[in-house]
Amino acid sequence: MKKISSLLGFLLCTYAMATPHSVSGPDGRLTVTVSDDARYSVIFDGKTILQPSPLGFRSSRGDFSSVGVTDAQTSVEEGTYTLDRIKKSSISYRYNVLSCTLTNDAGDSVKVEFRVGDNDIAFRYVIDNPKWASIRIFEEMTGFDFPRHTTTFLTPQSDAMIGWQRTKPSYEEFYFLDKPLSEKSQYGHGYTFPCLFKVGDDGWALVSETGVDSRYCGSRLSDWNEPGGYKIEFPMPEENDGNGTVEPAFAVPGATPWRTITVGSTLKPIAESTVTWDVVEPRYDSGHTYKYGKGTWSWILWQDGSINYDDQVRYIDLAARMDFQYVLIDNFWDRNIGYDRMEELVRYALSKGVDVFLWYSSSGYWNDISQCPLNKMDSPVERKAEMKWLREIGVKGIKVDFFGGDKQETMRIYEGVLSDADDYGLMVIFHGCTLPRGWERMYPNYVGSEAVRASENLVFGQHECDIEAQNATLHPFIRNAVGCMEFGGCFLNRYLNKSNARGPVRRTTDEFELATAVLFQNPIQNFALAPNNLEDAPAYCLDFLRGVPTTWDDIRYIDGYPGKYAVVARKKAGKWYIAAINADETPYSLDLKAIANEFGSPATLTVLHGGASREMAVNYKAKDGSRAGKANLLDLAQNDGAVIIIG
Ligand code: CA
Repeated sequence: MKKISSLLGFLLCTYAMATPHSVSGPDGRLTVTVSDDARYSVIFDGKTILQPSPLGFRSSRGDFSSVGVTDAQTSVEEGTYTLDRIKKSSISYRYNVLSCTLTNDAGDSVKVEFRVGDNDIAFRYVIDNPKWASIRIFEEMTGFDFPRHTTTFLTPQSDAMIGWQRTKPSYEEFYFLDKPLSEKSQYGHGYTFPCLFKVGDDGWALVSETGVDSRYCGSRLSDWNEPGGYKIEFPMPEENDGNGTVEPAFAVPGATPWRTITVGSTLKPIAESTVTWDVVEPRYDSGHTYKYGKGTWSWILWQDGSINYDDQVRYIDLAARMDFQYVLIDNFWDRNIGYDRMEELVRYALSKGVDVFLWYSSSGYWNDISQCPLNKMDSPVERKAEMKWLREIGVKGIKVDFFGGDKQETMRIYEGVLSDADDYGLMVIFHGCTLPRGWERMYPNYVGSEAVRASENLVFGQHECDIEAQNATLHPFIRNAVGCMEFGGCFLNRYLNKSNARGPVRRTTDEFELATAVLFQNPIQNFALAPNNLEDAPAYCLDFLRGVPTTWDDIRYIDGYPGKYAVVARKKAGKWYIAAINADETPYSLDLKAIANEFGSPATLTVLHGGASREMAVNYKAKDGSRAGKANLLDLAQNDGAVIIIG
């Protein structure tokens, strides 16, 4: 530090800078300040969200873990874009920018760039030293030092090479809610993004990253350190069965991925944030137009035994009768149906107006997966031959499963699959995978990723059904707030298997399940319906699923507390769909009058609740202005939900 101080003294005289260096968002409520010794802090509405937190890294081009700010520039980044697969279809953004030059005691410089919006911060290191053509990052110092009264809503990074056929980590762990900072993570490897924090009564903060592609690894947060807080961690050496480095490298000039912090006094800015996509660029243009919609998926309830010609015909027919656009045919189709009969099956689907997604294992050599097709997606040689065949027989997309972790090696596989698939007009869904990090805007043919404890777990065991509602209340504010989420849910079976007569019991109401079709966002929703639902599910449920959109123009947060309840509205073509679910023992009172007031005060609302869909008049004459009359309150018991449609 002494060396740095004397260096700084010299540099400060040289540059005669004002210190410290600050930038606020356009409305002035969110401020990032960088001190001369390169620590950044975050203030929102006068409250401390992050205490001075470290910046810097160690690299093949020198040690930048102890640096001083030797120059600072401000500018503005603003723009608009349209995107058909995220929370909003038309986005305009404005960020005030602070770019600080960080100089180490060898006299070498890199930059850190902060973009600050009204509620969002994105920052990254920019390397543009003309002496260098490449750089390898050994370790990042980048930290997040929250005030000690903060509580956490986090999911741990798992050990590498554990779980089903040694396929973890795959972002499918449990969440731990409202825990103190000091609590150790389940596996001792910290936490996967996104990470939600409640800074006492001072606000909420969601920390994540975006813009990760073949030029970096996926990162995560460490366990809490005292002093210092959380720190960016790179993948574990054991990931990808030990193959591939944990130290990312990229060409210079270049930059690290963006780390993002979204801050609000409520969860509203987090649920509505688009920072994940604002700061990234498309990696390539597509010559294809992709369509989104809904699909059926036999595997989720009928499992491996259903991957045969006749059962797939049943699910294609189900898709046709539901007016769905897609059928997803899962693992073992190559073995059980065969490449020749697959051509026949795809022809049958197309004759019914249903397009086809086919499943592939990503591996490869990095786990013990025996579900096939195998070894078709890990190398460009086999991949392109396979994709050529897929295009020839009229398949529209692939679902690629069981990836090897977060190393740069694996990020190259994701990007290679996406880029090659686009050449053949194929869309891509990822399962058993990492969090998408801005990919909806970066890759035109990307659809969505699992990276969550998804619907399959409900089928696997009763405990998961018991906590289905609790988990569902998390996603609008955590996982699904930063990326499309391929959950594959919306069950109308009471028992979660083919017989619908025994096995894990669904605890939620039908309207709860319908609400998740709005609450969970993915541009193609593969719903967990079964052919028997055509006969045994209420007609208003099927009608709702026939009509519910899967792409949206806008989102509005209404209410929520992770683990307890969530109320979120999405808009499509002038119509608002308000989804409400309750996981708490205390009934949740949904104030219909307040909802109506929020969306243009219509005389009636379409309310799906209590086993029916009905038009309900809203009593605007209630005298108590702050609270609706009794008739305007809809009580949601634990595991219950509702959908309200306006317009
Ligand atoms: Ca999975």
